[in-house]
Amino acid sequence: MQKQSEEKKLRPKQKQRRPGKESKMTPVPNTEPVKQENKLDGKVALITGGDSGIGKATALLFAANGADIAIAYLSETDDAKATQEEIREMGRECLLIKGDLSKEVNCKKAVDKTIDTFSKLDILVNNAALHWETESLEEISTEQLERTFANNVFSYFWVTKYALAHLKEGSAIVNTSSVTAYRGSGKLIDYAATKGAIISFTRSLAQSLAPRKIRVNAVAPGPIWTPLIVSTFDEKRVAEFGSDTPMGRAGEPNEVATCFLFLASDDSTYMTGQCLHPNGGEIVNA
Ligand code: NAD
Ligand code: MG
Repeated sequence: MQKQSEEKKLRPKQKQRRPGKESKMTPVPNTEPVKQENKLDGKVALITGGDSGIGKATALLFAANGADIAIAYLSETDDAKATQEEIREMGRECLLIKGDLSKEVNCKKAVDKTIDTFSKLDILVNNAALHWETESLEEISTEQLERTFANNVFSYFWVTKYALAHLKEGSAIVNTSSVTAYRGSGKLIDYAATKGAIISFTRSLAQSLAPRKIRVNAVAPGPIWTPLIVSTFDEKRVAEFGSDTPMGRAGEPNEVATCFLFLASDDSTYMTGQCLHPNGGEIVNA
């Protein structure tokens, strides 16, 4: 990432003999431990698809770290209410926003309602997605193609676009991609393409927002046990789900949520445009 030359910070000239003494450096390197409790104290996070699965686990972990949460979801009001209840039991507030984010107007509404309720927005997690399995490219109808991209990519663009009016220095955006972005998926060609687009979106947006000191990163989960899986794959595939990973099992949503907390908090202040891979040990490039 190219930094604007006028922003480049130069340190005073200095030289030491090997191995060098930290105490003699100017400035002294900051080795103070980053806060490891209540990492999101007083922050407001909007999480799309936060009613269930990875989004829910992320919402609960963020709330446990002091954040108030807005959850945008498609139609699963029972799941959303159960998540809201758990967050309220932690003493945090949780706003539920039902609506189809594949329509731009609902993306704007999700941001507007978050601001109406909490008066600010610090963290955006773009996480909503759907997929439809097919045997071949020829089977993917134009309607499905458009629906998959509107759901999984356009919604990320639109929610982020409206959120940017409120995000400020120190804010963080975390986008959910997938292991399928890196290794492909023969039966989820359109879905895998949206997840690849999310990686490029993350990298480009990170460059565009670095001068505004807003970080943008992604998480690319492997097989995680969530409603997306049981509502999509056949029974055999569901039964075997995750068994082909090096760890031999599917992951749980709460094993992925920690990546989102890392990327949303001051644990990752020197990371932007990057992707974490909670995937049971599958080696993927970048
Ligand atoms: P999930 O079904 O629990 O969560 C997805 C949520 O997205 C749903 O709850 C739904 O309300 C919401 N959503 C979908 N389309 C929407 C729309 N048009 N408008 C508003 N909300 C919409 O499943 P999950 O597995 O937790 O999925 C979360 C993310 O993780 C997705 O981006 C998915 O692609 C990604 N992912 C999941 C796995 C996995 O194995 N479960 C693997 C890699 C990536
Ligand atoms: Mg759901």
